[in-house]
This record gives sequence, structure tokens and C-alpha cells, in this order.
Amino acid sequence: MSYAEVIVDIATEQVDRVFTYRIPEAMEDRIGPGYRVRVPFGHREKEGYVLRVKDTADYDENRIRDILALLEDYPALLPALIECALEIKKETRCPLCEALRLMIPAGMRQGRVAVRREKIWRITFDPKDLDEKLRGEKRSLNRTLALTALSDGEWHSKSELSGVVRDVRSAMTPLVLRGLAEESEREVLRRPEEYGPAVPMPDPVLTPEQNEVLEDMLPALRNGDKGHTYLLHGVTGSGKTEVFIRLVRECVSMGKSALILVPEIALTPQMITWFRSRFGDGPAVLHSRLTEGERYDEWRRIRLGQTKIVIGARSAVFAPLQDLGVIIVDEEHETTYLSDHYPQYDARRVARGRAEREGGLVVLSSATPSVYSYAMARRGDYTLLEMPRRVLDRPLPEIFLADMREEMRLGNRGIFSRRLAGELKDCVSRGRQAMLFINRRGYAPFVSCRRCGEAVKCPNCDVSMTFHATDRMLHCHYCGESITMPEVCPSCGSKYIKSCGTGTQRVEEEVKKLLPGVVTIRMDNDTTASRNAHAELLERFRSGKAQVLIGTQMIAKGLDFPSVTLVGAVLADMTLNLPDYRAPERTFQLLVQVAGRAGRGDEKGRVVIQTYKPDHYAIAGAVKQDYRAFFNEEFARRRMDLYPPFTQMDRILVEGSDDEKVYGKAVSWGERVSRFTKEKGLDRLVLFVRADRAPISRLKNRFRAHVVIKIIDSPKCASLKAFITDTLREENEELQAQGMTAAFEINPLSLA
Ligand code: ADP
Ligand code: ZN
Ligand code: ZN
Repeated sequence: MSYAEVIVDIATEQVDRVFTYRIPEAMEDRIGPGYRVRVPFGHREKEGYVLRVKDTADYDENRIRDILALLEDYPALLPALIECALEIKKETRCPLCEALRLMIPAGMRQGRVAVRREKIWRITFDPKDLDEKLRGEKRSLNRTLALTALSDGEWHSKSELSGVVRDVRSAMTPLVLRGLAEESEREVLRRPEEYGPAVPMPDPVLTPEQNEVLEDMLPALRNGDKGHTYLLHGVTGSGKTEVFIRLVRECVSMGKSALILVPEIALTPQMITWFRSRFGDGPAVLHSRLTEGERYDEWRRIRLGQTKIVIGARSAVFAPLQDLGVIIVDEEHETTYLSDHYPQYDARRVARGRAEREGGLVVLSSATPSVYSYAMARRGDYTLLEMPRRVLDRPLPEIFLADMREEMRLGNRGIFSRRLAGELKDCVSRGRQAMLFINRRGYAPFVSCRRCGEAVKCPNCDVSMTFHATDRMLHCHYCGESITMPEVCPSCGSKYIKSCGTGTQRVEEEVKKLLPGVVTIRMDNDTTASRNAHAELLERFRSGKAQVLIGTQMIAKGLDFPSVTLVGAVLADMTLNLPDYRAPERTFQLLVQVAGRAGRGDEKGRVVIQTYKPDHYAIAGAVKQDYRAFFNEEFARRRMDLYPPFTQMDRILVEGSDDEKVYGKAVSWGERVSRFTKEKGLDRLVLFVRADRAPISRLKNRFRAHVVIKIIDSPKCASLKAFITDTLREENEELQAQGMTAAFEINPLSLA
């Protein structure tokens, strides 16, 4: 008799343990760790994951129930990915089942997607006899065409035959009946269509710098150095992608697999185009815009070993590749690598964990590395490789600073400085292209009252609403609510309310005023909602049909348009004013990245950064394009103010429909955490415990309060984290009864 330890697919802490089931005899030699099964659970049937198979039940034999069925005839979870899930459980303190769910496409659970099959046919006679058989079918052109199309003796599907036969079914049914053809089925893999056929491209000759960094990495790859991490710091346009391509090619020739992570695939279509031009259409692509069917089939192609190259966004870090040679994380500083929902894993960390356990190198790459990674490289935990020059001796762009206070003093109340306006005119008149970046969509991010100063807020959230010129309505970017523009101030009734601030729509309008007749493209969440909108808009810009591209941060990343010579950051301070310790880092990164879109062709690029804070080190550093200067300053500030990576910021977030209860809960938990800290003598490690209403105190009609905990992370703090998780678990039911939820967030992306 054998038994299986199963994690049942129910994500509550109460069932977060293994359950033992009996393996029916018929299943015995087919089952093993990683298989998904259907099991009885209480009065229902549930899906589950087999973790281990064993000979003894260690449990009352009579109470053990049988596994009902295997869900696939192969283990969906590789052993390495089970380990990965265990690690995520440990770090984020989520139920194991929740971590295991990350390892398979969502549609695979509860059988939401199925394997797609298609009918296929082939002839049953020797192709040599075709002429004779055809004579028998003279009366039907359809059947004649079908037999001719099948005359190679191979299996053909309906889609293949429909190119030549008008009505495949009415042709094939009689042929099958008469025994001239046979019918069968085969699986079809749905592939994302948007990419079209791969267009092959020859290899460029490597630059000396590309050669140099490869000389460092290739031997490590060939040696199979386990988990060695490189930080590739190369300026924008230094040709990092070509380095990735060579690494991946080496992997493939060694029979190993390669994983390339990009921040957001819809925004970096060029990475896929380049890879496809060099590796054909084999590489699998995983991202959120795939349909469930496409996602499932791409995943299966990887799982069944049909491809060894995967390009994908964050969750692709769990791609079921075997024999990893390298995991590349492009634009490693991007926040999209941190999951924004539970469990909050960090794809960079997961990548390193996988490489350490499964083998392979990790290459973190960026023109503006995260403070954390650069600090790790400084300390010697990562190997730092630098590419300080652009390819083909292309110069870095020239950056000009426009001090908007000065503009104001000189009477310029427009959104463009004289410098940016002048550069724009010049650029467009010379038939070149420009990109304008503004980190806010809509027309005006605030509508506020000139008498009482209040901004118009969303009825459901504690955030100001954005005016959209397209429908002349106010929109909430958090919950999607839209309302008509009020005629008087909702707070004081005054008539003097007006929109202020600048969003993408306003910038577009101003460009058209400045340059009548110019063709513009706007890229933000409003214009890119449909499935292929990103690719289409970018293609339109590339083709030269428009001269000015206006967008939010979605145009800051990785784009390579050789005829863009001018880039403008319309208001650089926007991210700087965020209430977050990462604000300077984000600002610097964004500005350097945006600037990097200029001058990627033959002509030197020009960049204008508009700001009210020209002296801030993040802005000054970006203007000088001096990463190290910025890093040193930022690192010193973090050390002084005890911010990560010197500390860890965690929080307990409480949400609910009653403001007082929510706030009260946060306060009482804050007190309990403080008490625990004292009792266990953790005072020196726990720097503060602060309960308060969250900066966004209401979201989608739920009130929000939090306990922010700043600690010097050490193994000693594990007991504190366990205490918090346990407390939340114990009180979970009571909370739910009161319409509240609580979550423990470790190092969250935002403390808003
Ligand atoms: P990065 O990612 O470092 O900003 P890219 O990988 O986008 O830079 O490369 C910038 C441009 O240089 C691309 O157009 C790319 O095709 C080109 N390029 C890269 N390597 C070479 C090379 N060795 N020779 C010629 N052109 C190259
Ligand atoms: Zn008012
Ligand atoms: Zn809202």
C-alpha cells in the first residue's frame, strides 16, 4: 500500500498542512511528487498537489481516503519548483498552496482551460494508387481536392485542408465511410499570434565592451557556476540585449535552458522581436496579456521540453524549465519584479534562489541598477560588470535642465519651457521624432478650489480625481469611478474651482497648439487598454507616421527608435514628491531611462528635463548621467535615516468598512507588537512600530489603517514575524465577521 502527502488547493491558513491520502492500486506506478490530483475533502472534491509518496500512512488507516483521480498524466510541478514554493512560503509567510499556485497557469486549476484538440485525417491507401481512387470520386470536386491534398500520406488537419478544400467535413465524412481515409485527433498548441513570422537577422560584430563582459560570463556559464550573480551595469544603448543573445545561444548549444525576464512584455516588444530574429519562433513567451489558452499552451510547451528559451514578465520566473543555464533579469531596477499582490514575492530573489538550487547564472541588468543590487555588487556578493559606452561610439545624449521657477519668473505660464518649446520646433521641422514623458495620464491630475484649497476627491477613495478632456469627466485612477465635473466646490460651494497640474492629454493638446498640424501619439493606460494597442501604437510611431510620442512611464523603458533625437521630461518632480523613501531612486531611474531613448541613431540626442527642484541630487545626478554619484548620495542617506537595505519596512494593513474599527484594530495590534518586542528583548532590532491611518485612508470604499514596522532584519526577527502571522491567523475569523481583512506585507512596494 502506498500513500501520498497532498497539499489541498484551499488557501486558508487552517488547512495549510499536508493531508495523507491512499493511492489506489491502479494509480500506484504512475503517481509521484508534483502530480496534481483530485481528492475528497470534507463533503466536497478538491484539487491538490502531491508533495511526497510514502509506504506508511502514519495515521489511522480507517480515516484515510483514496485519491480520486490524476489531473494530468505528468507531474505539473517540477521538484525544483516545489522547493521554490517552500521558499516563498517561508519568506512571505503565505499558505503553501498559495505559493504552489504560482507554479502553474491559473487556468489549469479547476480545469478552466483544456487541451485543445483538432480532427486530422490521412489516406488509408498507398499514395501510388491515388489516380485509381480519384477516378471513383469523379463526381465530387471537393473530394477530389481532399484526396489530392492528402496524397502525401501524412496526417492533415482541417485548417491545413481548408486552404484547398471548400467544405472539409462534407468531403471527409464520405471518404472515411468508404474506408479511403481515416480520422483521428491531435493536440494543438495555441501560440500568441501577434508576433507574426520571425524575420532572421545576422549577428552584429560585438563591440569591445560586449566582448569583455562576455569573456567574464561565458566561462562561468560553461563551468556551470551555481547561482553566481552578475550585475551588468551598462548605459542606455550600450547593447545589453546583444550580450543576452550571446549568453542564451551558448546555453542552447550546451543543451541548457535560458530564462529572460523583462519588466512588462507588452512594453518591450523589441526584446521579443530581437530574440525571434536570432532564434526563430521557438522561444516561449509568457505574460499577462495572453489568453488563458495561450498561456496554458506556452507553459506546456516549456514543461514538455519543446522549448528551452523563455521570455516573460515577472511570473515567468516560475517557468518549468529544466537544466537552467542562465536567468537574465533585464531592467532589474523595475518595481514590476516585486509582486503587487499576495504572495508578494520578488522575482529577482526567486531567480537567485532557483539558480542556487538548480544551477545556472543570474544576470541582473540595468542602466540604473536598484540601490539594493548595486550595494550587493559593492559588497562583493554580485560581480559587477560595466559597459560605460554606447555601441558604435554613439554619444550619450546631451541633457539640458529647464528651471521652471525661472520660467515662471519670466512670465512663462505654459507647460513648456522656452528651451523645450524651441527644441521641439527644431526637431519636428527637421523631420526627426520626439518623445515627451509625463508621469500622469488624463488632462489635469487635480481639480481644486481656489477659495478653500480642497481638491475634488473620489467618492469611494481618499485620492484626488483626474480631469479627462476626452469625456470631460473626473476619473478616479484607483477604482475607475467617473463623475461629471462639479460646478461648485463640493467642500465650500465656491464657484472658483479649476483644474491644475498636467497629464498626458494636456501635453498632447499643448503640443498641437505649439506645432499646428503635427501628428502625435499618446500612450497611457487610456489609449492602450485593448489587447494589441501597445504594439500598434509603437509601430505607428516607428513607421514615422507621427512625429511626437507622448506617454507615461510606459514609454520610458527599453524602446529603441533610431530617429528619436529629442526627449522631454515635462515635469521631473512628479515622482520625487511621492511619500516614499524610494522616491529619489525612482526619479533618478526614470529620468535616466527616459533620456536614454534619445539619440539611438546616427544623430546625437538632446534631452530637456523640466523641474522646480534643479538642485535635488536625484535630478542633478540624472542630468549628469552619473549613476555612481547618485548612488553614493542615496546610499549615505539611507544609512543615515536607516532605510532599506539597512533596515526592512514591513506592515500590517487592515481594511474594512468602518473607519473607527479599522483604526482601532491597527492601534491594538501595534501595541501587541510593541509588547512582544519588549518581552523578547528585540528592542534593538525593532526600530519602530507605528500604527496609523494609511496615507490613502480609503480605497474603493474600504477604510485603511496600518502598523508600519521598521526592523533591522536578522534571523532573530523570525520570531516576531511568526508572532504577527499567528496573531493574524487566530483573529482571522473574528475579523471577517466584522467585515475586515488584514494582511502582513513584508517589504511592500508601497506604504500608501
Ligand atoms: P541597451 O539595452 O543597452 O540600452 P540595446 O540592446 O537596446 O541597448 O542596443 C542598442 C542598439 O545597438 C540596438 O539598436 C542594437 O541593435 C544595436 N547594437 C547592439 N550591439 C551592437 C553591435 N555589436 N553592433 C552594432 N549594433 C549593435
Ligand atoms: Zn472650496
Ligand atoms: Zn476611487
